[in-house]
Amino acid sequence: MKKISILGATGSIGTQTLDVIRKSDDIELVGITANTSVIKVIEIIEEFNPKFVGMMEKEAYYKILEYVNTNKKNIVVLEGIDGLNKIASLDEIDIVVTSVVGMIGLEPTLKAIRAKKDIALANKETLVVAGELVMKEAKENNVKILPVDSEHSAIFQSLRGNTLSELKKVILTASGGPFRGKKINDLKDIKVKDALNHPNWSMGQKITIDSSTLMNKGLEVIEAHFLFDCPYDNIQVVVHPQSIIHSMVEYKDNSIIAQLGSPDMRLPIQYALNYPKRKNEIANKIDFWEISKLTFEKPDLDTFKCLKLAYKVGKEGKLMPTILNGANEALVDIFLQEKINYLQIGDIIEECLEIFKKEGNEEVTLENVIELDKKVKEYVYNKYN
Ligand code: NAD
Ligand code: MG
Repeated sequence: MKKISILGATGSIGTQTLDVIRKSDDIELVGITANTSVIKVIEIIEEFNPKFVGMMEKEAYYKILEYVNTNKKNIVVLEGIDGLNKIASLDEIDIVVTSVVGMIGLEPTLKAIRAKKDIALANKETLVVAGELVMKEAKENNVKILPVDSEHSAIFQSLRGNTLSELKKVILTASGGPFRGKKINDLKDIKVKDALNHPNWSMGQKITIDSSTLMNKGLEVIEAHFLFDCPYDNIQVVVHPQSIIHSMVEYKDNSIIAQLGSPDMRLPIQYALNYPKRKNEIANKIDFWEISKLTFEKPDLDTFKCLKLAYKVGKEGKLMPTILNGANEALVDIFLQEKINYLQIGDIIEECLEIFKKEGNEEVTLENVIELDKKVKEYVYNKYN
């Protein structure tokens, strides 16, 4: 029996992980965390009976505690970031699914690694802000970082049986999001509901907005750099609107290996949880008689400047990606509240990169990342909220 904790069990990836567990007979859910979603957590408790539950928010914590006491459940209920840290590093578990959204996932991921738990990593912001640190500690602790992000799972799968030294290039596919083909002028009046309308994937709000600005692809470029130790110039983004090829790798002999599948996150989640084994089918089959064509385009970096900025900060290294990520997290939140317009997301990230560039040159430590992230977010919220 494989024993797991899910950080962010009520979200899009968390819920799909629960579905993978439902269809497995050898995975036991030991711990879950959530932010505020009391009702969803109670449903998970009723169905899966985890031994540990962590609620980030105080009020939600008290509600779950009351529910557990009233119903005489034998469950330990924890609060705040300490709860996340504890549930990520329980003696009882083998693997942690990191599916919280945002860099808040960094500290619990490091705690899990130090407790020698394998990581099924969905929370890409963790690698963006501290990839160097996370990968170093994973190596030192002999911990596997198993990618859940579909592109990185595809690369991971395409690398099997080969070595990284034979790798020439990583080809990250991108759907292009809802605004593929649009120019700056077309994007001036974009409304929240338009940006939330992704053509191929149903995901949490933050990553859906990131997909529309191509920031998601930018974060994934940085994620790929750290996961596969690949120089930025060897990571190529290719727009592939059908989202069938999830990504590819090119070897030194110019052979390309790709992983294909229907756009269903349960596939990479199941792969990460069972690696190196493959389990029975969970997603729909691909029928090449029905898919008449697969197409490819070059991304438009002038219109979608977030992708360009991500390459830039990735190459600069140090804490520059922390500035980009922190500003983006705050700006997506403010955009969702309709307090800034769509194109301001990229513009204000650029402003923050300029303002904080001195701090961006500091070393990547947990403390420095947390401090700078806080500073950047405060700046954005104070000025634009
Ligand atoms: P989501 O918004 O649907 O869910 C987020 C989860 O994190 C929820 O359980 C929520 O309770 C919890 N959470 C939110 N804020 C928190 C906080 N401050 N403290 C503690 N917990 C908090 O997000 P999602 O779409 O499932 O994405 C989760 C992560 O996985 C992101 O990093 C995203 O980039 C990555 N990812 C998602 C998908 C996808 O298809 N949804 C695909 C690839 C990667
Ligand atoms: Mg992805």
